[in-house]
Amino acid sequence: MALVVQKYGGTSVGDVDRIKNVARRILNTKKQGHELVVVVSAMAGETDKLIRLARQITPAPDERELDVLVSTGEQVSIALLTMALKSMDCDSKSYLGFQIKIATDSVFGKARIASIDSEKMRQDLKEGRVVVVAGFQGVDDSGNITTLGRGGSDTSAVAVAAALEADVCEIYTDVDGVYTTDPNVYPKARKLARISYDEMLEMASLGAKVLQIRSVEFAKKYDVSIHVRSSFNDNPGTIVCKEDKEMEKVVVSGVTYNKNEAKIEVMRLPDIPGVAAKLFKPLADANIVVDMIIQTSSTEKGCADVAFTVPKSDFAKTLQIVKETNKEFGGKEVKFNEDIAKVSIVGVGMRSHSNVATQMFSALAKEGINIHMISTSEIKISCIIDSKYTELAVRALHDAFELDKPAIIEER
Ligand code: ADP
Ligand code: ASP
Ligand code: MG
Repeated sequence: MALVVQKYGGTSVGDVDRIKNVARRILNTKKQGHELVVVVSAMAGETDKLIRLARQITPAPDERELDVLVSTGEQVSIALLTMALKSMDCDSKSYLGFQIKIATDSVFGKARIASIDSEKMRQDLKEGRVVVVAGFQGVDDSGNITTLGRGGSDTSAVAVAAALEADVCEIYTDVDGVYTTDPNVYPKARKLARISYDEMLEMASLGAKVLQIRSVEFAKKYDVSIHVRSSFNDNPGTIVCKEDKEMEKVVVSGVTYNKNEAKIEVMRLPDIPGVAAKLFKPLADANIVVDMIIQTSSTEKGCADVAFTVPKSDFAKTLQIVKETNKEFGGKEVKFNEDIAKVSIVGVGMRSHSNVATQMFSALAKEGINIHMISTSEIKISCIIDSKYTELAVRALHDAFELDKPAIIEER
């Protein structure tokens, strides 16, 4: 008997028939003698719909109230799923985040889980019940409802698995594993049997939304093995686990893209010590995570231009803060561009290869794609390009690194 945590994403519970299908899957697992905690997302499109509703009231909704609103999507799906289970004579019970309790910090919209009380879940499991938990939400010290950022149910599931020391955390979604790139963008994408936490972390942070980045951070920290698979078939999925010798030895293991960033350029800043700190501190204080930063010398003598990217969801707030800070510097021009995309290649094998960047730039050049910004780390290279070229760039990079071909397994 194993303790299994299963998470079902929005598409998997997208309508009443799919919810019934999920209930049947749960029942099957239960019949095999396993203990089961199920984490569920809102029905597909519901979270977007709630956000749109809020924006019809005001373009910048109060962050606390927005979390009160968007967390309701998951309340609907846990109730419907538990009703379906009960109608199949499966003893089960649903819980919202605060009922469990999933304690978080107070950063509305992107709260971090601080701790999970496993007491109630353990008691239910002991009494033979399936526990159904609302993903994406928690509660802060003052009792406010919080949410964990888009795609946050993955993180709820892994955190619940860690708290319960579950044997496995299965993430059921609408694709049957982690692929070399988004299979919905490039059908030649190849499913990976296994991927290391570090590569998955990079892929997730660079846009592969199949897993939320924090869920992988959690899994790595608490050594939770994740099995990503489809809720529509029984194909074996992808195991996300510690790096080992049997993993594919390739230089590049995946291509990712992210269209959810915007670029801001602050022109002709004084080129003196302390300016960057002054520019970025108010953004950090507002919990805005700045991604790429480039400083170049300006056309004006003694000045520098600074360009950086932030998530589109923080774009309006960033622009407002930057314009305010810029006044202190004498208020020169601030430019912005929301039509950008970041394409990246990821692979632990890059550590020991020198010409990967050149290959990447050549592949983009061959398609006539201009690169606006570049950033690299030990195991990834990212380029900012015009968003209209995203799909073309993904396909070109996938072909250039021959990711459709199965890799040879060698000792690392
Ligand atoms: P869920 O609602 O189940 O959480 P998501 O939409 O968040 O599902 O994540 C699944 C989607 O992730 C897939 O439909 C696919 O388009 C996308 N995706 C992006 N990159 C990858 C990748 N490398 N491998 C698999 N899926 C990917
Ligand atoms: N419902 C939330 C979202 O759409 C959380 C999730 O699906 O993981 O982002
Ligand atoms: Mg998701």
